[in-house]
Amino acid sequence: MLLCIKLGKMMDLIFLGTGTSSGIPVIGCHCEVCRSKNEKDKRMRSSIYVKSEETALVIDTGPDFRMQILHNEIEHLDAALITHTHKDHIAGLDDAKSFADINKRPFPIFANGDSAQIIENEFAYAFQSLRYPGIPNFELRKIDDQPFFIHNLKITPIPVMHYRLPILGYRIGSFAYITDASEIPSDSLKKLQDLDILVINALRITKHIAHFTLEEAIDMIRTIKPKKAYLTHMSHHLGLHDVVFGRLPKNIFLAYDGLKISC
Ligand SMILES: [Zn+2]
Ligand SMILES: [Zn+2]
Repeated sequence: MLLCIKLGKMMDLIFLGTGTSSGIPVIGCHCEVCRSKNEKDKRMRSSIYVKSEETALVIDTGPDFRMQILHNEIEHLDAALITHTHKDHIAGLDDAKSFADINKRPFPIFANGDSAQIIENEFAYAFQSLRYPGIPNFELRKIDDQPFFIHNLKITPIPVMHYRLPILGYRIGSFAYITDASEIPSDSLKKLQDLDILVINALRITKHIAHFTLEEAIDMIRTIKPKKAYLTHMSHHLGLHDVVFGRLPKNIFLAYDGLKISC
């Protein structure tokens, strides 16, 4: 386990999912990655769990959210941070209602203005005034690019571009999580200095209009210069975990589902 203790505070991170929108194995695909017996080649849709001393949260609640929570025996969550509203990032949101029941209060969901509007439309039943039994009890909190707090945990939104869609990454202490980016504006790069851990998306080897390739992700890591970087949101086209991992520069790692690190 990687340890990077700073000011006596520590956060635990669990990669709940590290796959792109189709996950791995891809339905109907017989490629060597999809047929691999290595557990590290099986990827649910991307999400990460972040736990500090007082606060536990997830970034994104994709279609695999419920199984990710159960597999990792997570029984407490204070909030969800949403990067954007493509379905591989929010379509498990309904299942977050369990944490409203556990916490006995509305479950906070943090999202930028456009994402909050889409969540309100697409999960309209959760926000209507007529409260059917069993519908989610959510509290949608619209954020911009200004830092905010959950308990004493400072969270800094990091605006990035997913092709033409402005979406959010997040910085929490010396850790930052960026997924689905194809471009990081210079103002956002300034917010990513002095990181211990950067998680960043690397879809595949060949060019994609809306996601960093492996080479682009490595270039971006060299620009940002975190102590360690972990790649996520991977497609089966990236290749086998063990093969790709073996070729990566020092201090860059392929994340895999269930990987636990501390920061
Ligand atoms: Zn995605
Ligand atoms: Zn495949």
